[in-house]
Amino acid sequence: MAAIGIIGGGISGLSCAHYLKFLGGSKIKYIFLLEKGPKFGGWIQTTRFPDNAVFDHGPRTLRAGSKAGFNALTLAEELGLSSRILAIDRTHTTARTNYILKQNELHPLPRDFFSILKTRHPFNRPLISYLFKDLLTKSSKLEDETVFSFVDRRFGRDIAENLIDPLCRGISAGDARELSVRSMFPYLYEMENKYGSVVKGVLKDRENAAAAFMHSQLVQKARSELWKMWTFKTGMSEFIDGLACSIEERGCDLLFNTNCSSIDFIGNKAKINVENEIIEVDHIFSAIPSYELSKLLPNNQSLANVLAKIPSVDVAVVYLEYENQLIKQQGFGFLSPSSENSKVMGIVFDSCCFPQMNGTAKTRITCMMGGKWFSDIFGDVDTVSEDTILQAAIKGAEMHLKISEQPVRHKVVIQKKCIPQYIFGHHKVLEKIDEEITKNNLCLSLIGASYKGAGVPDCIYNTKLSVEQFLKTL
Ligand SMILES: Cc1cc2nc3c(=O)[nH]c(=O)nc-3n(C[C@H](O)[C@H](O)[C@H](O)COP(=O)(O)OP(=O)(O)OC[C@H]3O[C@@H](n4cnc5c(N)ncnc54)[C@H](O)[C@@H]3O)c2cc1C
Repeated sequence: MAAIGIIGGGISGLSCAHYLKFLGGSKIKYIFLLEKGPKFGGWIQTTRFPDNAVFDHGPRTLRAGSKAGFNALTLAEELGLSSRILAIDRTHTTARTNYILKQNELHPLPRDFFSILKTRHPFNRPLISYLFKDLLTKSSKLEDETVFSFVDRRFGRDIAENLIDPLCRGISAGDARELSVRSMFPYLYEMENKYGSVVKGVLKDRENAAAAFMHSQLVQKARSELWKMWTFKTGMSEFIDGLACSIEERGCDLLFNTNCSSIDFIGNKAKINVENEIIEVDHIFSAIPSYELSKLLPNNQSLANVLAKIPSVDVAVVYLEYENQLIKQQGFGFLSPSSENSKVMGIVFDSCCFPQMNGTAKTRITCMMGGKWFSDIFGDVDTVSEDTILQAAIKGAEMHLKISEQPVRHKVVIQKKCIPQYIFGHHKVLEKIDEEITKNNLCLSLIGASYKGAGVPDCIYNTKLSVEQFLKTL
């Protein structure tokens, strides 16, 4: 029987405790989960205003497809949260429209087969012609490549600049010219390697991602209704509350306001230093960002040095609420390519996606700014004022959405070092980390957004795989 220490009470740490209890049964003696902050959830935090309007400070929607997506739905069902879900499905045509900003105009992305046959801004040719380029382009056999270079080579400059560049800003607040295709978009990388073309891969790869999850009624519903994205009725922190309650009921020790200050590995055990106490465990799951873990390993310097190599970026998230219905183009929101003259990376049209969360407002939007470009735009993240950020968001809404009214309510959140960047060669860093852990025989598993996927479903799924792997060793 093993005593386990989990460091970090975000979605990764909490789902780790859940899977250890759920899958580990009598193999697990006890579990301590340590969270340094006053609340669980990490980047998942929700503000609920008195009139029931909702603002998620971090993630607001989770994707439904892929193994990770179906697994997250299964977890929600296991926690008894099925009836709390709000989904964007095939009937939700407005919220399924995404826009790209180009020369300060919003252009809807094609959503069906017929629209890829026509030339539509921001692209210079019909989308189908770029798909033909992919079919005719040989595989590169490169070990890694930047996302921009991969897409430029396979689909053309138009798609790289006007689709993948803004998409990388939307997903990871990062620069497509620096991010690794192998680590950011492993599916694209694999399709090229396996089938010689992404399009061929999509057509031939018949793996049913949902197959292993069809016992879940929620997954069945998501499949039959073609869910694209989902959230919870009063925001994402319902997921955190559900997990924390269930884990506590199953007898885990959940400690918040508890900062782990260092970790020592002695023999086949680990000692976690917490304020004036030492907790001895048989295994540690680190569910904190890699740069935080690197500071906790005074006696494992070479591992600490590699962990510190994974960078992360700051993001300003601004919630704006208006009295009247002011969004002309209904949809999920827009993304702006880095070539646009805008401080805004993207704006989500919250009131269109989930009107159930509008409270008394008619228009709610969330503006994302900064990321890789934070210091170029706003200077030092530690000294920039909330008002500077707020004014930039209001100006962005005015410029791009032609909203001239002043918001009736707002909230500014500056998230420091919140999104890890899987830059070119990220897989090599992961290999080196594994090598250090194995060489030194450390009883340590690394989970969380820094390594193999930063989306919430990826964090949950990779945690589950890591727990399964650990349980095999007992
Ligand atoms: C603005 C923003 C928008 C996002 N949007 C989406 C989205 O729409 N969809 C999606 O799927 N994903 C989204 N993400 C990504 C996703 O939210 C995160 O990658 C994910 O929540 C990370 O969870 P985690 O548990 O791995 O890490 P974290 O959330 O970082 O949790 C780590 C926890 O560890 C604690 N900790 C750190 N050091 C110590 C220590 N020494 N001792 C004890 N505790 C410690 C921290 O306080 C924190 O609570 C978004 C992220 C951000 C920032």
